[in-house]
Amino acid sequence: MKNDLSTYGRLIREALPYWKVAVVAMLAMIATAAMEPLLPALMAPLIDESLIDKDPNALIQIPLLIVAVFVGKGISEYVASVSSQYVANRTVADIRSEVFAVQMDLPMADHAAEEGGRLLSRITYDVAQVGEAVSTAWMVIIKDTLMIIGLLAFLIYTSWEMSLALLVAAPVVSYVVKKASIKMRRSNQALQTWTGRLTGLIEESLLAVKDIKIFGGHERQQDRFDDINKRLRHEQMRVIKIQSLNVPLVQILAAITIGIVILIGTQMSARDLLSPGEFVAYITAMGMIFDPVRRLTGVNATLQRGLAAAESIYSVFDQPLDKQRTESTEPALRHVSLKAKQLGFTYPDAEQPALIDVSFEVHAGETVALVGPSGSGKSSLIALVAGFIEPEQGAIFIDQDPVSNWTLAKRRRQLSLVGQQVNLFDATIAENIRFGRPDATDDEVRDALKQAHALEFIDALPEGIHTPVGPFGNKLSGGQRQRLAIARALIKDAPILLLDEPTSALDHQSRDHVLRGLENLKANRSSWAQAKFIFMLLKL
Ligand code: ADP
Ligand code: MG
Repeated sequence: MKNDLSTYGRLIREALPYWKVAVVAMLAMIATAAMEPLLPALMAPLIDESLIDKDPNALIQIPLLIVAVFVGKGISEYVASVSSQYVANRTVADIRSEVFAVQMDLPMADHAAEEGGRLLSRITYDVAQVGEAVSTAWMVIIKDTLMIIGLLAFLIYTSWEMSLALLVAAPVVSYVVKKASIKMRRSNQALQTWTGRLTGLIEESLLAVKDIKIFGGHERQQDRFDDINKRLRHEQMRVIKIQSLNVPLVQILAAITIGIVILIGTQMSARDLLSPGEFVAYITAMGMIFDPVRRLTGVNATLQRGLAAAESIYSVFDQPLDKQRTESTEPALRHVSLKAKQLGFTYPDAEQPALIDVSFEVHAGETVALVGPSGSGKSSLIALVAGFIEPEQGAIFIDQDPVSNWTLAKRRRQLSLVGQQVNLFDATIAENIRFGRPDATDDEVRDALKQAHALEFIDALPEGIHTPVGPFGNKLSGGQRQRLAIARALIKDAPILLLDEPTSALDHQSRDHVLRGLENLKANRSSWAQAKFIFMLLKL
């Protein structure tokens, strides 16, 4: 409960920038709720004056008033709906953007620890759930609560005796609803986990669709999918069952209450304590109260889903982020040295350490290649230098300064990287290269591509450096992608260049070209290139 409140609190704080529109929405909801009892209130004079007393004035006035009430209610409901959804939409867009930003800033260890699809489903599913909760739920909660209050006031004003029966029934109904909501919450959390696993499996299968085809893995993958799909369906059915049971249960309780109220009403009417008009007005208002009550109980499900989703989102927000953004104003250093001293690292839940007692020192202008077989820890060493993981033993120094004293932004400003896995973005070649340095001119882009020996194939393309590479760069060959990644790393104005098996996807000829190009870097005329050293890791 306390948790719920703090989650609510955070959601509300998220909406605070839009408080002006929220106030408009609130006022419109208050107006709507205030007009709600007017209709039953008009019932009493309609019956007592128009129908029983046959008052000619009342015959005209009452139909006009009824139309007026509906026009007024229509306007205020429209304003309430549009303005409240506006606030909700803006809030959700803010949260979505924040989730994305935080996700990019999470330390690598957290990325590794997350179940694959959880990340995707957080943005696609969780945020949508929160969206539904804040868009429909807050309007339903405020407007319908006000409506219930307005109608209740009218009921008590008309006949407190009959209202007593209602007040006795209310706690029973709320107990039933509360029980159901606790169950629902648990099922919803399970639903989110299974949705995440499903998304993960889909993501993985789409990425590996070629492997699945060639190895005939359809059935195994389909089995895994069907398994998760089934679990997901079961959880969904559980939620639906609880949800569906909720409504008839509340209705049956309502029917019993109505029966008792009518019994009291007819008794009072027989003793002339209640006019026929008042009796009808009372029953009308009571009938009207069940709608908002039902909406309120129904909204509980949406709200529980939203809260569960918000909790999962906030749990990510609450993880410590390292301020890793490299586009900060940190200057690149010149003529640096890189030193590793007795580095040791073991992956969580790995039996063997990935690195034991690794030391080396590289100075500006030098190219050092570390050679080792696959699994020997080359990529892990790069991850340590780049600050994707932190060493358990030993330390890394840049310019004799332990980088653990630096911000990650400062450290990463000094580094450029061609990872073992090349990742390109769905953009043009030039845009992909500029990912390394956004303000690079076309000439500089071409220069970097030339050094990476990519220009020959690019100049043969009709659109040259403005050719789109497709999602993940899939319009290019592996070797072409790798050369683009090298160009992207070269163009970043960073003194340390990390290359993790940079030529593994290249044929002999391109490899020689690229290596010679890298060799030339040291003799290059531009000042940053002179200071650069390359720290290369090659497979044996
Ligand atoms: P290389 O790049 O030289 O092929 P890696 O640095 O990728 O080697 O891996 C070194 C060792 O660490 C291997 O034994 C590998 O199984 C292990 N390893 C690599 N990444 C992880 C990880 N994320 N979790 C657990 N163990 C890992
Ligand atoms: Mg590797």
